[in-house]
Amino acid sequence: MISDADIVEYYKKLDRSMFMEENKQFAFVDAAFSIGHGQTISQPSLVLRMTLMLGIEEDSKVLEIGTGSGYQTALLAKFASEVYTVERIEPLMKKAKERLGRLGFSNIRYKLGDGSKGWEEEAPFDRIIVTAAARQIPKMLIKQLATGGGMIIPVGHHTQRINIVSKDEDNKISIREDIPVIFVKLIGDY
Ligand code: SAM
Repeated sequence: MISDADIVEYYKKLDRSMFMEENKQFAFVDAAFSIGHGQTISQPSLVLRMTLMLGIEEDSKVLEIGTGSGYQTALLAKFASEVYTVERIEPLMKKAKERLGRLGFSNIRYKLGDGSKGWEEEAPFDRIIVTAAARQIPKMLIKQLATGGGMIIPVGHHTQRINIVSKDEDNKISIREDIPVIFVKLIGDY
C-alpha cells in the first residue's frame, strides 16, 4: 500500500529545477512559474496535495490531462502502475518526455492532443487528474473513469475549485468541491 508519507518523501527528493528552463534558481519557491507557451509549472504544494487527494494505488492506471513540464507526471509515475499523459502543446510534450526519460520512467505513455476528450482507446482509468481549469467536467472523462475510480479536476471560470469526482461500484457519480485554486485554462472541445 502506498502511504502519504512515501509520496511526501519522494516529493521532497524530486528536484523541481529539472522541470524548469527559466527561473531555475527559484525552483524551491512554492509558486507557479512560466514554462513558456503561456503555460505554467504548478505550485509544488498544490501538485503534492492533488496527488495525495487522488489516492493512487500500486496497480492504478492513471490518466493525466495537461503534461506541462512533466513535474506532476513524475510524482504520479513513481507510484502508479501506468500513467497516460496528454498535452496539447508539442514542444512542452517533447521536453517533458525527455526529462521523464532521463529520470528512468518506463511506465508513461504520451499523447499529443486534446485531453478534454480523454484517451478513449486506453480507457477505463482508475484515476484521472486534470491540471488545467475546466468550465465544466468533461463528459468524456467521466465516461472513461473506471467503476470505483476517482478524478481530481479544477472547475470554474476565473477562479476554480478542485472537484473530487467518484464513480462508485454502481457507476453512480458523486462530486465534492474542495479548495479554491487558479489554473491555466483547459482548451478543448469538452
Ligand atoms: N502539472 C503540470 C506541471 O507540473 O508542470 C502543469 C500543467 S499546466 C498548469 C496545464 C497544462 O495543460 C498546460 O501545459 C496546457 O498546455 C495543458 N492543456 C490545456 N488544455 C489542454 C487540453 N485540452 N489537452 C491537453 N493539455 C491541455
